[in-house]
Amino acid sequence: MLNIILMGPPGAGKGTQAKKLIAALEIPHISTGDMFREAIKEGTPLGKLAASYINDGHLVPDDVTIGLVKERLSKSDCAKGYLLDGFPRTIPQAEALEVMTKEIGREITHVIDIETPKEELVRRICGRRVCKKCGAPYHVINIKPKVDGVCDICGGELVQRPDDNEEALNVRLDAYHKQTKPLLDFYAKKGLLKEFDGTSSAELTPKLLAYLGE
Ligand code: ADP
Ligand code: ZN
Repeated sequence: MLNIILMGPPGAGKGTQAKKLIAALEIPHISTGDMFREAIKEGTPLGKLAASYINDGHLVPDDVTIGLVKERLSKSDCAKGYLLDGFPRTIPQAEALEVMTKEIGREITHVIDIETPKEELVRRICGRRVCKKCGAPYHVINIKPKVDGVCDICGGELVQRPDDNEEALNVRLDAYHKQTKPLLDFYAKKGLLKEFDGTSSAELTPKLLAYLGE
């Protein structure tokens, strides 16, 4: 059984690796960031609340985030394994995750940490563009679309995430160092943690799949 947590600073490539892993492993992708952005797009009460934190780089409060994940993890498709991307990000979230996964018999089996140098994170995030319609990622220098501003896959408009600017990124990196980094120790002590270098995205995917035994 593969019940995986994907960790790493913003821009490390969690989302990119997650998409490749779930395609190969055929397990659901649970991205709290994607779930919040979806709620924002739909204009739900959750979305309105989340937007007030996300847009300037702050974390959404633990109780809200934990409730959302608990609901998602108990769905039947997670019985065959799952990939958590961007959760947990705080010690209270990790503790709540431990309790909920024990309750439903879906305990974490692997924690993957993707480390990438800060200059590279800034370069990736500030140049990142995403498709408004399908979420496909692009980069103004590295991953250009065939037609400027238009998604190759679905023709949707390419936009910059409101939190992908240097100011919000600094807040996100600060939250990562203060609140998320302590989780590495939490999972290392449990013998679940494995670190990877995220500098080359293409080289990383086969390494991750080999590690997960695929
Ligand atoms: P990134 O890793 O690039 O910051 P995500 O898409 O994972 O991007 O998250 C975007 C934003 O969503 C975060 O900056 C935060 O505001 C919110 N968010 C996502 N996951 C969590 C979480 N587990 N706890 C609190 N806030 C979260
Ligand atoms: Zn698209």
